[in-house]
Amino acid sequence: MATETPLILIIVGITGDLAKRKLLPAIAAIHKAGLFPAKFRVLGVTRQSDVSTDDLLSELTDSTYMKEHLSLLTMDVLNTSDYIRLTSELAEIERGWGGAAQRLFYLSVPPLASEAIIEHLGTSGLAAAPDTKLLIEKPFGFDQASAAELVTHIDKHFTSSQVYRIDHYLAKEMAQNLIVFRERNPLFRGTWNKDCIERIEISAIEEIGIEGRSHFYEQTGALRDLVQSHLLQLAALILMPLPQKAELREIPGRRLRALQSLRLSDVEPVRRGQYIGYRDEVRNPSSSVETFVAFTLISDDPFFIGVPVTLMTGKRMGKKATEVRVVYKTFEEKGSNTLVLRLQPNEGVSLSLYFKRPGYTSAVEERTFDFSYASSTSVLAEAYEKVLVDAISGDHDLFVSSDEVLESWRIIAPIQEAWAMSSGDLTLYEPGSDPTVS
Ligand code: NAP
Repeated sequence: MATETPLILIIVGITGDLAKRKLLPAIAAIHKAGLFPAKFRVLGVTRQSDVSTDDLLSELTDSTYMKEHLSLLTMDVLNTSDYIRLTSELAEIERGWGGAAQRLFYLSVPPLASEAIIEHLGTSGLAAAPDTKLLIEKPFGFDQASAAELVTHIDKHFTSSQVYRIDHYLAKEMAQNLIVFRERNPLFRGTWNKDCIERIEISAIEEIGIEGRSHFYEQTGALRDLVQSHLLQLAALILMPLPQKAELREIPGRRLRALQSLRLSDVEPVRRGQYIGYRDEVRNPSSSVETFVAFTLISDDPFFIGVPVTLMTGKRMGKKATEVRVVYKTFEEKGSNTLVLRLQPNEGVSLSLYFKRPGYTSAVEERTFDFSYASSTSVLAEAYEKVLVDAISGDHDLFVSSDEVLESWRIIAPIQEAWAMSSGDLTLYEPGSDPTVS
């Protein structure tokens, strides 16, 4: 990045879970890497008047830099006149620096609040100020129609080049590696197609449950929470045509093409489940919210036509794993090779191959080669560090375009429609079990 343009990062919702757990530590790490300009300020926006920077920074290992660079502004984000104060505050900081800064508005607030804030940023004139960017968090709507409304709402006040929609899965080290892996390894580049690949499975399963987030989860469920953006974005990275140039530009457009080629399988059923105990946890004995979902997609892309792509996510499963599994075709029914790209935990890659068993035998055995980042000296950047660094430098590759958002809702719309009619297919599963095995 190494830009010397002064920078003000305005985090609306500075007291929230995301800001505390992810954003503030990411800012500290980016500073340590020397990537902020000398003129840099975080302006934390909160509705509360009794919060101090010390409270917010108490969990950082080294907060010296942040203490010097973080200030707070108490404001009611729904009140028009408070945006006049925000405008003056920003102008004041810039006056002190002797010139205009890049302004990055990070909306780290619940979705409904984001919509109202976007409106105020527009009507107050803040959105139209030079070098202003908007970072927004998922969820991007709750279905195709609401996502389209949200896109129109944002487009009213910001140009598309100002907007950065965050799907932090795209910023995970292994997700970024998916393109490089496909691009730079001729062995896989040459076999990344329907002639060699039998099926692809993309899963994000967890041991934990909803961890007290009853209200959020009752409104969201596994399909919206994990599949709509994260898993479909991973599918797009796996299926998209590789960029022609070495500098890997135009990636959002290529992901979009991959998403446009996907539709639900007519053959494989959609499976949904709920772990036993969920209803007590959310105090809703009739809840039909899914904590597990699995379904298969088919691509119309000539390179992948006929290759099933299965997406699966679940809570309270037997283990924690987010991974992409590419199962290669077998020849003469003699066992297949499987490539596993692990996003978390233990980021890395494994590949199963067949060998003759040593000794006086002609028996064949399967062995797995494994590479793990943890066993190398590599330092992995946290996804939110990459999100901030790329937004500051104006690189849109790791961010989701409005067309991608709409396309991913289009893919899952038939599931939402069917579920709205009936919940008869919801199965209950024991925590720690695998609902795919009945
Ligand atoms: P949160 O803790 O529920 O809320 C963040 C802050 O927003 C609150 O501390 C509050 O700050 C402010 N806020 C809450 N309700 C508001 C309202 N009605 N009007 C205006 N301000 C309000 O949310 P979060 O977990 O930090 O998540 C922030 C955003 O990131 C959400 O859109 C979420 O979907 C997304 N996200 C979060 C995570 C995560 O790990 N937490 C992961 C992915 C995406 P004040 O009281 O100080 O004003």
